[in-house]
Amino acid sequence: MKRRQLLAGLGAAGAAGLVGGARAQPGARVGAWDMTTDVLVVGSGSAGASAAIEASRAGAAVLVIESLPRFGGSSAMSAGVVYAGGGTALQQALGVTDSVAAMAAFITGMSGPQPPLEKIQLYCEESAAHFDWLVAQGVRYGDRLYTGMTVPMDGESLYFSGAERAWPARELAPPAPRGHVPLAANMTGGRALMEALLARVRELGVSLLSGVAAQRLVVASDGRVLGMEVSMGGERKTVRARRGVVLASGGFIHNREMVSLYAPHLYQCSVPWGNIGDQGVGINIGIGAGAAALRMHQGFAIVPLYPPESVLSGIVVNAAGQRFVPEDTYYGVLGDAIAYHQQGRAWLITDSGSHLPPQQDNFPQVAQANTVGDLAEQLQFPRGALQQTVAYYNRNAGNGEDPQFHKSAAFLRPLQGPPYRAWDLSVERAFVPAHTFGGLHTTVDGQVLDGFGDAIPGLYAAGRTASGLPAAPYIASGLSVGDCTFFGRRAGLAAANRSVT
Ligand SMILES: Cc1cc2nc3c(=O)[nH]c(=O)nc-3n(C[C@H](O)[C@H](O)[C@H](O)COP(=O)(O)OP(=O)(O)OC[C@H]3O[C@@H](n4cnc5c(N)ncnc54)[C@H](O)[C@@H]3O)c2cc1C
Repeated sequence: MKRRQLLAGLGAAGAAGLVGGARAQPGARVGAWDMTTDVLVVGSGSAGASAAIEASRAGAAVLVIESLPRFGGSSAMSAGVVYAGGGTALQQALGVTDSVAAMAAFITGMSGPQPPLEKIQLYCEESAAHFDWLVAQGVRYGDRLYTGMTVPMDGESLYFSGAERAWPARELAPPAPRGHVPLAANMTGGRALMEALLARVRELGVSLLSGVAAQRLVVASDGRVLGMEVSMGGERKTVRARRGVVLASGGFIHNREMVSLYAPHLYQCSVPWGNIGDQGVGINIGIGAGAAALRMHQGFAIVPLYPPESVLSGIVVNAAGQRFVPEDTYYGVLGDAIAYHQQGRAWLITDSGSHLPPQQDNFPQVAQANTVGDLAEQLQFPRGALQQTVAYYNRNAGNGEDPQFHKSAAFLRPLQGPPYRAWDLSVERAFVPAHTFGGLHTTVDGQVLDGFGDAIPGLYAAGRTASGLPAAPYIASGLSVGDCTFFGRRAGLAAANRSVT
């Protein structure tokens, strides 16, 4: 007997041949299905829509269910940035030099320990073709490059969306702009992206139902996923999925209990960032069917210091009054360093030329003084620590050097004149959006794996319901929606190609 059958058999006790996936309750009986489709996609964000498009193009009957009244999920709230490279049509049109190897080296080298190498390699190799696919679905892009550090707002569609130009990334691979931003008139880039993808979903004849929430899988005693129990207008219904179920229901940042259990560093962050559908239901449904979940503690914590970029001439210090990061890195890397490695506490120290604008309300000013010593005293830092940090930093910056963190020359200069100010970057008090990255363990084709590494037949996952490319630290905007659309497509295709059960 295979391990899967053994486990399924144990779970099936008293379940009349079928077992519920998410909880140990009996599921539906064969013949009691309220609806039948080939591929059931749970969630209408970028992962779900991409899965639906490819499953339908492969000839499958597809049903997308969405628990909320409106389609689009967090994907539609987002800026719609897709991280793409290796010579996309837009990069080429703008004369940008990039390679698959450089893109893979950046993602692999910067994404923390044990990055998902197979997914990264495939994503980079097929990135240019994936961009073409987005264009073919009707997502529109402009033809201008933006050289600033934040999402362009003026019709530019390509920019450096991550930490590529900061140390140590720039030593790992030649930096290239890879943030691809949809053209969007009077809406977010994400809404523009989702309007195009959802229009394509409808054009292909996919059924879309809003206000229908997946609750638990219906699983045969041999472990095959047969369908889903859903809640529809307050009633329990069953949906048979003859080829497979694709879980694409986002992450869990709004399930505070789950965040507290799995990702306590993110729990502290002041702004749960995502649509309210981010309740972790898809992840729990998968876990309930025996799936392994990976990187559940990881996510992004964004500390949006810039714009203006002049702020980056200040320094960021921890509670010991010491620097710990190149200030000009991507704000996801900065947020990660604070949330995960500095107990959630940090301060930006500025001088007369680097302070934050008076209008901003992201970071409270907590001290001001004419000397660094007086500032340190107000902040109750260990005696002399901040003074030493500033003196060391100034001495080296005066020579154009930053031996510790190699801040880029564009932002490197001594802190040179009062008033000195301190701004609170602590994750609980500052504006620090957080979003989860942990999810179900999947193959590159979206097949959900159990703790033994065996695929759960008929179960697929994509987007933030799966553990994909985005990891902690989050190194570039666009990796999440890029991962959702790319691996969502593969999951939909794999489900559609599975033999009928
Ligand atoms: C303001 C903002 C800006 C961002 N900008 C970017 C960016 O520019 N680039 C980038 O890469 N990332 C960005 N992100 C992150 C990114 O938007 C998300 O990680 C990504 O969109 C997740 O896509 P998804 O398809 O996995 O989930 P979603 O887009 O959230 O879709 C999941 C859907 O499933 C539904 N659902 C949940 N439970 C159920 C259930 N039980 N049954 C049925 N339906 C269910 C949800 O309601 C939701 O509509 C941003 C996030 C935010 C909040």
